[in-house]
Amino acid sequence: VQSNSTSATADTVTADLSDRLARIVGDKHLITGGVRLRPHLEELRGRYTSACRAVALPADAGEVAAVVQTCAAAGVSIVAQGGNTGAMGGAVARAEQVIVNLARMNRVLEVDPVNYTMRVEAGCILANVQAAAADAGRLFPLSLGAQGSCQIGGNLATNAGGINVLRYGNTRDLVLGVQAVLADGRIWDGMNSLRKNNTGYDLKNLLIGSEGTLGIITAATLKLFPAPKRRVVAVAGVASPDAALDLLGRLRDASSDRLSTFELMANIAVQSAVRHIAGQTDPLAGEHDWYALIVADGTVDGDGDAGAGLRRDMEAGLARALDDGVLRDAVIAESESQARKLILLRENIVEAQNFEGGSIKHDVSVPVAQVPEFIRRVHAAILDAMPAARAYPYGHMGDGNIHFNISQPPGMDKEKFLAQWRPMNRIVHEIAHQLGGSFSAEHGIGLTKLEEMARYKSAVELDLYRQIKRALDPHNLLNPGKVLPAASASR
Ligand SMILES: Cc1cc2nc3c(=O)[nH]c(=O)nc-3n(C[C@H](O)[C@H](O)[C@H](O)COP(=O)(O)OP(=O)(O)OC[C@H]3O[C@@H](n4cnc5c(N)ncnc54)[C@H](O)[C@@H]3O)c2cc1C
Repeated sequence: VQSNSTSATADTVTADLSDRLARIVGDKHLITGGVRLRPHLEELRGRYTSACRAVALPADAGEVAAVVQTCAAAGVSIVAQGGNTGAMGGAVARAEQVIVNLARMNRVLEVDPVNYTMRVEAGCILANVQAAAADAGRLFPLSLGAQGSCQIGGNLATNAGGINVLRYGNTRDLVLGVQAVLADGRIWDGMNSLRKNNTGYDLKNLLIGSEGTLGIITAATLKLFPAPKRRVVAVAGVASPDAALDLLGRLRDASSDRLSTFELMANIAVQSAVRHIAGQTDPLAGEHDWYALIVADGTVDGDGDAGAGLRRDMEAGLARALDDGVLRDAVIAESESQARKLILLRENIVEAQNFEGGSIKHDVSVPVAQVPEFIRRVHAAILDAMPAARAYPYGHMGDGNIHFNISQPPGMDKEKFLAQWRPMNRIVHEIAHQLGGSFSAEHGIGLTKLEEMARYKSAVELDLYRQIKRALDPHNLLNPGKVLPAASASR
């Protein structure tokens, strides 16, 4: 991993520093080699490998603070790490850095069903956060494919999105308070549970989405919602993204805006899952050019008949869309297990793409109304650049976030295909930009999108970012080289 950091930090983790860190977290919780190191080094997409040889696993915020102070005194920089499921190389560390992984800080501190909040330590696995909320009859709606291994601290640090953003917003919308260790080792306790709090600058929202560059998040207060009384889960087959957009609008209306999920999937992605993932079938009778996974949940007031009304509304909306030729076919889950199967289709298409050879990934958002235009233009431009490339688009259409991935042409050398990563990114990101979109909708910047930051962010914005970074981390000790492009790389 190349560093683009400009600060002068130590070039090695010395035996003395390791000893000091081991005294803070305990010998067992400082990993310096062996098989326990590996999961901390291997990055999801295999684009980067950490060379780091020191992973500290603190037990509480006090230990995190002590680790940060000790590293700072030695001039050694720190990479915060959660479940290491991030897609942008944000948790990758160089040989001379220390990884601080929050896995041991995994306690649910409190669930308050009356206040509709919960307080959790940053190392809680997202699925465990959801389960603790459900046990109290409440919903924590953040939901994404990696929820069995990503940590809530990592979710905050990346401002993760997922499949329920349409209704509940992204992580930033789900957080009321944050506790974090700052670059100088002080602990900032901003763990309030308030819905209204207009007192000063919003430090919490600076830390959320900062990918470990401004502070290490050690705990959070999360917003909860009523647990859904009834879920209606459907898959629809449509002829085009335009038809999907029409369907989205109709079902938002028909359900009184109770859609939580509206995911678009190209046929190639669905058939790839059917081919490669054991047990996966096409839920519809015939193949369709496009599929939509739709979830509505009945949690709002007035849904007094345990959600039966929601099902009637959704059935009526789908039937009208069928009559009007907007959709070709649809299936509604009859049971919770069928519902889970339909949702799994969307999750499986991600894994299925790995069986199609090399893939070039994108995580782009445009205004929702522009999604069909975006897909049309990108598809044409990609085929222009590489006629045999296979477009593999899918994503969170309900919030305008499309993963317009590209699978390699059959028979093409994988490395040769992957060498086109940057030019393909350029094509896709330019079109998103022209449509008023973003080159990173939910995955963040990490190491992967530094070039795009330099290209698409204004000089004013980059200058403000750098001033904020300098104010909070003057010695560039927290995840240096991530998020902010080197000044020389900017326009
Ligand atoms: C199958 C799959 C599906 C996915 N689906 C989605 C999706 O739908 N939506 C989405 O947004 N993402 C998705 N992701 C990406 C990933 O899961 C998210 O980015 C997640 O939020 C990362 O959490 P993590 O704990 O794994 O963080 P890591 O990968 O460990 O770290 C990510 C970044 O956060 C920083 N960080 C981690 N913990 C802390 C902390 N406590 N304090 C400060 N900084 C910290 C790291 O330094 C790094 O920069 C998916 C990933 C996979 C593998």
